[in-house]
Amino acid sequence: MREYKLVVLGSGGVGKSALVPLALLAVLSLNCALNYPAADACACPSAAVFIAKQTVQFVQSIFVEKYDPTIEDSYRKQVEIDGQQCMLEILDTAGTEQFTAMRDLYMKNGQGFILAYSITSQATFNDLVELREQILRVKDSDKVPMVLVGNKCDLEDDRVVSKNEGQQLASQWGGCTFLETSARKKINVDEVFFDLVRQINKS
Ligand code: GDP
Ligand code: MG
Repeated sequence: MREYKLVVLGSGGVGKSALVPLALLAVLSLNCALNYPAADACACPSAAVFIAKQTVQFVQSIFVEKYDPTIEDSYRKQVEIDGQQCMLEILDTAGTEQFTAMRDLYMKNGQGFILAYSITSQATFNDLVELREQILRVKDSDKVPMVLVGNKCDLEDDRVVSKNEGQQLASQWGGCTFLETSARKKINVDEVFFDLVRQINKS
């Protein structure tokens, strides 16, 4: 069975744990889109409703979680992509691992990485430079499926990292995908995971 191992990285408080349940929702709808391409669009809504029902319960069961920066968890979900059963695994990291060897291990195992910062915190943005270097070092490659994510874009009044800074960093990173998201307002979350799954499919 094809596996997609996605790892969500970034400093505490940027919204990783808020994004992951939405990620599962995104991949389930990707599944729907792939199974029912444009020509068959009329077949999609009922499948979407079915998926949505299952997912809402699933997501609700995760959303009861309060903010706890130390929670590190992985979510496994079997999904169908292009008629193939796939196992999706998303690791929501907390940066609390005691040994760097542990971090190395999940970087080695991960196939796609979401590097998240909060647009309201310069430090969380700066922290990603080191994280990316570590990923490339561990994977011994400079072509690793990756998306740079500026989360909390609903908090425009508290913004300290400009969109331009995000774009510039992404272009320094060999033109990696850059998206600003809001887990709260559900902006662009699907796109992050769609893009990452597509990058893995191409790699
Ligand atoms: P993590 O440490 O990266 O896992 O961060 P969490 O997902 O636990 O989120 C930290 C805090 O930021 C929580 O209080 C969330 O409700 C809040 N948060 C997460 N994403 C967003 C977002 O997109 N917008 C806003 N306004 N708050 C968010
Ligand atoms: Mg968390």
